[in-house]
Amino acid sequence: MKVTLKHHTPLEVCAHAIRTCWQSFEKSDEGGEKDKALIDRVGNKYKHASTLEHLVYTFYIQGVSRALLQELARHRIASPSVKSTRYTLKELKNSEPFDEQDYERAKMFIVLTGNSMVDTASIEALNNLQKILQAGVSNDIAKFCLPESYKTELTWTINARSLQNFIELRSNKSALWEIQNLARKLYTTLPKEHQYLFETAIS
Ligand SMILES: Cc1cc2nc3c(=O)[nH]c(=O)nc-3n(C[C@H](O)[C@H](O)[C@H](O)COP(=O)(O)OP(=O)(O)OC[C@H]3O[C@@H](n4cnc5c(N)ncnc54)[C@H](O)[C@@H]3O)c2cc1C
Repeated sequence: MKVTLKHHTPLEVCAHAIRTCWQSFEKSDEGGEKDKALIDRVGNKYKHASTLEHLVYTFYIQGVSRALLQELARHRIASPSVKSTRYTLKELKNSEPFDEQDYERAKMFIVLTGNSMVDTASIEALNNLQKILQAGVSNDIAKFCLPESYKTELTWTINARSLQNFIELRSNKSALWEIQNLARKLYTTLPKEHQYLFETAIS
């Protein structure tokens, strides 16, 4: 899994939004310590949490399973744009078949769990899918036998309020191990000066 931060809103934009409420722009230190304290006080402590929606992050998330994707998609207050298997199965169609234990090469297409029975079953599924594609079945039909471990990628945009909720729910040990890893990576990929807003959410 690889997570890259493509874009983020500077803290001073959120501080400006908060200061709009009582017109205290002159007290701003342009995203410095005074503004950071204000955002935490109003957004978190006073629970005027809609102000945190002015902070928006866009991540490029690569190498996650479709099992993770369906859980990520449950988070309605976020915008995903996902690599389409309808268009991209030709990468698999054109590669060599996989030996059952060739985890290294299979890693290009599937997320490995470390359980050899499960990972071998995923490789068998890849080989079956490849035979179906090479027999000329269209991607639209063939995709119905994709394993859940099949890798995908997405660009994901989310605001700070919703990201707090995501990190709190998904870094918890009751969440799926792969989405726990994602939640922690999202946190460490955030700009250092933004991480304080998520410290109480992460576990
Ligand atoms: C450990 C774990 C196990 C899970 N197991 C299952 C499972 O077995 N089956 C299953 O179906 N799901 C399961 N889920 C998914 C879970 O039910 C949520 O769909 C998912 O976590 C998204 O959370 P959310 O609704 O808070 O996020 P978002 O959809 O991003 O919503 C963010 C917040 O906006 C508000 N909101 C959004 N939409 C509404 C609305 N319609 N009405 C009122 N308020 C709204 C809520 O305050 C919500 O917390 C599981 C989640 C976790 C973390």
